[in-house]
Amino acid sequence: MTNEELWKAVLTEMELALSRANFTTWFKGTSLLANNSGALMVSAPNGFVKEWLENKFGKQIFQIIRNLSPEVREIKYIVGNLRPGLPFQKKDLVQFVPDKISEECSDADIDKATNLNKRYSFNSFVVGPSNELAYAAGIAITKNLGKVYNPLFIYGGVGLGKTHLLQATGNLVAASSSNKKVLYIPSERLTTDIIESLKNRTIEDLKQRYLKLDLLIIDDIQSIAGKKGTQDIFFATFNELYGKNKQIILSSDRPPSAIPALEERLRSRFEGGMITDIMPPDYETRLAILKLKSKEKNFEIDNNSLAYIASNIQKNIRELEGALNRIIAFSQVYSKIPDFKEVKKLLAAYLNTPYRKTTHQLILKSVADFYGISLSDLVKRSRKKEIVKPRQIAMFLLREETKSSFPEIGSKLGGRDHSTVIHAYEKIKKEEEGDETIKQELVLIKERIYQTFENV
Ligand code: ADP
Ligand code: MG
Repeated sequence: MTNEELWKAVLTEMELALSRANFTTWFKGTSLLANNSGALMVSAPNGFVKEWLENKFGKQIFQIIRNLSPEVREIKYIVGNLRPGLPFQKKDLVQFVPDKISEECSDADIDKATNLNKRYSFNSFVVGPSNELAYAAGIAITKNLGKVYNPLFIYGGVGLGKTHLLQATGNLVAASSSNKKVLYIPSERLTTDIIESLKNRTIEDLKQRYLKLDLLIIDDIQSIAGKKGTQDIFFATFNELYGKNKQIILSSDRPPSAIPALEERLRSRFEGGMITDIMPPDYETRLAILKLKSKEKNFEIDNNSLAYIASNIQKNIRELEGALNRIIAFSQVYSKIPDFKEVKKLLAAYLNTPYRKTTHQLILKSVADFYGISLSDLVKRSRKKEIVKPRQIAMFLLREETKSSFPEIGSKLGGRDHSTVIHAYEKIKKEEEGDETIKQELVLIKERIYQTFENV
């Protein structure tokens, strides 16, 4: 049976089982795409329909297909109108949104006791000039727990490998000696744990749990800024652990000196150990990462294509992986490995997906238009009051909407220091909560930003 016949059979049965309106809503524009050794792929016109097909009708569809074609083991659902076998078309590429392919870790990989994810190891961590210091510090710690570099503080922009490095260090310590107690906590979780235990009056238990550790790893510590209760308890725990030569590792998106509303006593504690950064990877490292990731995924693709991806995605390793995943997903749908020309098209489409289309430029232009000032005024070094506020708003929106690092935002706005950007960000964030006018202005500006790119 061809895919077409198979899907037609499903449609016929579903049409009988459902009301006319229901059938049209959920099955119009669907098709069966690929049939790769027992795995089928069903394409839905949008994410909403995909969810319904998968969750509400998934079982029924599976049964119908199994009756006709017993070798089918699995049905996957994707969004996108692809026509298998035909050459890629720009329209397909833009619409094509693959499911995440094991990009993020699944919960099953997380160890209950340590909260570490086994996926992260040093074997899968590529070392280059951008991260070698941080890497060396991590390795040194595994060999001399609590005796060198305590605390170790690693900072760097989003998607550059902080979490990976922290977890790899924790995993190596846990694996090399079973009597070492390790715990990994994202700092958001630290905060909720502390708040919960204060509420339930179990804070002593929580503290005791931390004090038994040989290695405490806290990820994204910048988010405890301004949270007095969390900082108090963390400070006390930190001191006790530190006093007992127990190892602490922290990560942050910026150095301790640039975390506002971090109490001085904590700041100086962090600065008392080793501070090291992770920078965006250079070309060679990016290429090595892509090679490693495609090998891990058993995906064979020519070096030219990898080189092309590595030279076009520069700032963020998560995005590098995202681009590769998209190419892998596409090759599964078409049952073939895209050649260099096709990779170029796919990447162009990836770089143009809506969330990326909110470019810095678009945000700056929307802010300037909204306040009736020119783009160059917004970016230039003028200190006029009617310019300063829009500029702060621009900084805030650049951070919120693109997740760019503070130094990067500073450079987009006439080479301003990251501390200026942080100050603006914090200020507007506070105003957004308390000041109705600002709140409304932000909503209106965002409407502009997103309207423009939908019309592109
Ligand atoms: P951060 O915590 O800095 O935001 P992550 O550690 O989550 O970044 O890294 C983002 C993705 O990039 C992860 O999937 C991670 O495995 C991968 N990654 C980061 N750095 C490296 C590296 N040096 N080698 C291999 N993979 C890396
Ligand atoms: Mg992280």
